[in-house]
Amino acid sequence: MAFSLFNQLRQINRHLVELPCPGCGQYDPQLIWRYDRYFLRVNLSTCRHCGLVYLARGMKGDTQTRFYGQLYPRLMRQPPTSKAMWNYRLIAGYRFSEISAVVGQCKSVLDIGAGLGFFLDVCRAHSYEHYMGLEPGGPQRDHAVQVLGLGEHVRPEELDEQTQLPFAPRLVTLFHVLEHLQEPGKALARIAKLMDPQGWLVIEVPNIGADWPELGLSQVHVSHRSYFCQQTLEALLSANGFYAQSWRQEAHGIYEGNLRVYARLSASATPTVAPLPPSADDIRAHILKQIRPLSLRNGYLRMAWRLARL
Ligand SMILES: [Zn+2]
Repeated sequence: MAFSLFNQLRQINRHLVELPCPGCGQYDPQLIWRYDRYFLRVNLSTCRHCGLVYLARGMKGDTQTRFYGQLYPRLMRQPPTSKAMWNYRLIAGYRFSEISAVVGQCKSVLDIGAGLGFFLDVCRAHSYEHYMGLEPGGPQRDHAVQVLGLGEHVRPEELDEQTQLPFAPRLVTLFHVLEHLQEPGKALARIAKLMDPQGWLVIEVPNIGADWPELGLSQVHVSHRSYFCQQTLEALLSANGFYAQSWRQEAHGIYEGNLRVYARLSASATPTVAPLPPSADDIRAHILKQIRPLSLRNGYLRMAWRLARL
């Protein structure tokens, strides 16, 4: 089994292609680090044009479909064992409480990349009148639909130009989704059209500008195309019709360096002035200091051992 997993990863590696920056669409990378946690040659880079950290090599088309269909659930252990499931439920409850403290009671929610469905489950329990999730991943969706009984409230699809909803959500959430998307800006622009104009967009991403020494190399992951910090996420929001109302980054939060933004639709059609990204040299030094490839806790040796055990 482990052998076939390595083979599949090698296949993926052979089919990685040059990618444009997910933020601005340019091909102008400055290399930071070559290999991801699965030994795939992803060329983690800074975009010289807009300052976003991203993978300059990655998956496209069939390779990506095969990866998410066959490999991702195994690599990420989805669905988790029932012994590990409690953690997901607690995170959902914590998120709901944190978000409600800022946005109040919203009554309608769209959760993009709904995963196992726990967040929607909490919304339902708190009397949300409309709740909908989008989740293309089969094992995760099965859990949401069958185990949690969310049924037709979770659709087997990604957000795209064709997405239509039976209601305009007051709350739209993306928890660790935006960094996976090939065109995150287009997704935000689509959300801006679908949601209630008075509503809230709440996004969580790993913050590459935070401290993440415990993640180390595992921070670099072929399925994570963008590595946002507050400035680059704010730039993407303002280029696509939103402004960031507030930011949260709890110590000992959901994920090391987890960054949460509460965004709202801009009143004017013209993008607001984006903040300057941190200097490419500073962000590069910050990343290189934390990757720690030789660490026995989370370096390459440990990653190889974990792969062999899967
Ligand atoms: Zn760029």
